[in-house]
Formats: sequence, structure tokens, C-alpha cells
Amino acid sequence: MKDNINWNSIKTILLDMDGTLLDLHFDNYFWQQYLPEHWGRLNNMNAVHAKAQLKDWYSKEAGTLSWYCLDFWTERLKFDVLELKADVEHLIKYRPHAKSFLEKLSINSAYSVIMVTNAHEELIKMKVDKTGIDVFFDKIISSHSIGHAKEEQAFWKKLQIEIPFALDETLLIDDNLTVLRAARKFGIKNLLSISKPDSQNDKQDTEEFNALDSFEDLIF
Ligand SMILES: [Mg+2]
Repeated sequence: MKDNINWNSIKTILLDMDGTLLDLHFDNYFWQQYLPEHWGRLNNMNAVHAKAQLKDWYSKEAGTLSWYCLDFWTERLKFDVLELKADVEHLIKYRPHAKSFLEKLSINSAYSVIMVTNAHEELIKMKVDKTGIDVFFDKIISSHSIGHAKEEQAFWKKLQIEIPFALDETLLIDDNLTVLRAARKFGIKNLLSISKPDSQNDKQDTEEFNALDSFEDLIF
């Protein structure tokens, strides 16, 4: 697809991490398979029952900071969720061409490149250790330090205080449609989604948003 972005007008590029730059398969596999099975074993529950119970709990927290908070789940499930994540860290990988896109961005000093993620700081650290992704950013901002998830208007208000950006000179790339809608409501003009956040899943329907099939399609 053609990206429809007027690159000359862009000064700030906000990039999500999971499902945008990194393969969402790690997170999906962990939360939908690995964790429920582990939790089921600890509680003498079969995997099907454990998955159903957790799916219900997840849906109650979706889009909130708690959903993205390892401490919340560690307390709720009564085992160290971060430690369990380390078991499957071999699945932490860049999405296709994401690394070369970041390299290209980082040598082009026209842009301020900021990571904005709902991931917990401890998880960012795990992913940075695995991928070295931090070197490509002027700043990495977790919604946990802001105190609101990206789905909330308060996140964007506080973000703009922390890193001043002009709404019409900013591009956000994020696989999460709820987050894109929140950013659009706040007034960010340039928005792109991701066609295939999880390498092992089908393409997602990105509804009213243009979606990137490949970072190679971004010509700037
Ligand atoms: Mg994401």
C-alpha cells in the first residue's frame, strides 16, 4: 500500500513496540497458551478450564493499565509472571523489516523517534536485552510511568506535556485499533496500523485505518 503520509510535515514519530516492531506471537502465545497451562497445573485445573477462566479475567481488564501490569497479574495469579515470561523469551523477535526501518530512521535526524508502549518497564527491559531495540529511540515511554494506558485520553495529554509534539507533525504507528482511535480523538493526524501483528496469526481487519503490510512500504 501507499502510506499517504506527507513525510515533509512529520517531525515526531511515535512507535508502539509489541505487534508493531516486535512479533506479537511472543505475547499472544504467552498469555493464551503458556501462562494458562502453567496456572492450570498449579491449581489442578485442566488447560481448557484454565484458559476459559483466564480469558474471562483478561476481558474484564482489557484496555486498562492493570491488563498490561505484571505486578497486577503476579498478585492475582500468585506466581511471578515475569519469571515465567523468561521461559519463552526465545520467541521475542523483530517483525519483518522492523529493524532495518529503525536503522534507517535513526540515521535520519529529521525525526524525533519515541517509543510509546503499554508494556511494563520490566518487560521492556527483557525485550531490550533480547533485541537491543532501545538504541533506535530518543526516548522510550511506558504507559506505566505516565499512569494511564494508551487507550485513555489522559495518556496523550500527559505525553504531550512530557514530550511536546504538534498534532499535525506527528505520526503514530500502532497495531492496536483502540489505541489509534484514542490518538485520533486526541487529535494526532497521521495514523497507521499493522496488517499482521502476530506472525503466526491471520491478518487483522484494521477497519478505518490504513495498515502497513511491510515497513519496506514506508518511503521517507
Ligand atoms: Mg501493540
